[in-house]
Amino acid sequence: MSREAVSNFDEESDVGANKMASKINISERQRQTLIEVVDDIAGEEVKQVTLVLLNADKETTDEEISEKLDMRLNQVRKSLYKLYDLQLATFRRIRDKSTGWFVYFWTLHPERIDVFVEKKQQEVMFKLQERLDYEESNMFFTCNNPECPRVTFQEAMDNNFECEHCSGRLEAFDNEQLKQVLTDKINEMKEIREKTKKIMKGEK
Ligand SMILES: [Zn+2]
Repeated sequence: MSREAVSNFDEESDVGANKMASKINISERQRQTLIEVVDDIAGEEVKQVTLVLLNADKETTDEEISEKLDMRLNQVRKSLYKLYDLQLATFRRIRDKSTGWFVYFWTLHPERIDVFVEKKQQEVMFKLQERLDYEESNMFFTCNNPECPRVTFQEAMDNNFECEHCSGRLEAFDNEQLKQVLTDKINEMKEIREKTKKIMKGEK
């Protein structure tokens, strides 16, 4: 995270003003999803930090987390910034008047896991669609040698329909099967998204 991002959260009040973390009611399903997702994409240490924040009834400092987990402060901070990057945690910083150092108060936003999952699914859909568009808008050629790459019509033309790698003759490559696989995956993803939305709304 950049210094600019940090300074956006600057607050010039007293350290004593330890706000209560807003107690947001999340479902057991959200709680489970959060823990699974964090563990999966950020790893064990970030998961441990997440659990401390999840169970805290007030904003928590990196030092408090470090003590609770017996984890090096540096590691705790890394984990917290990871959560910040994932937009699952925010912080407030306050200057301690006696030491002049900044103290960071962290809050977890477990309810944001729904938006996070939705965004990830959207990304996957977008990539699949992009790939399908590419397959649909190009003609491909191959020398039928499994070790050589497939080329586009333009590349085949430029090389006089001769493979650059093995000098074999380039023939039209039928990508119908590939397009079908991509279409099936897109449809499957659409179904998963519909199901996820229902689960999030608590319909299932
Ligand atoms: Zn070849």
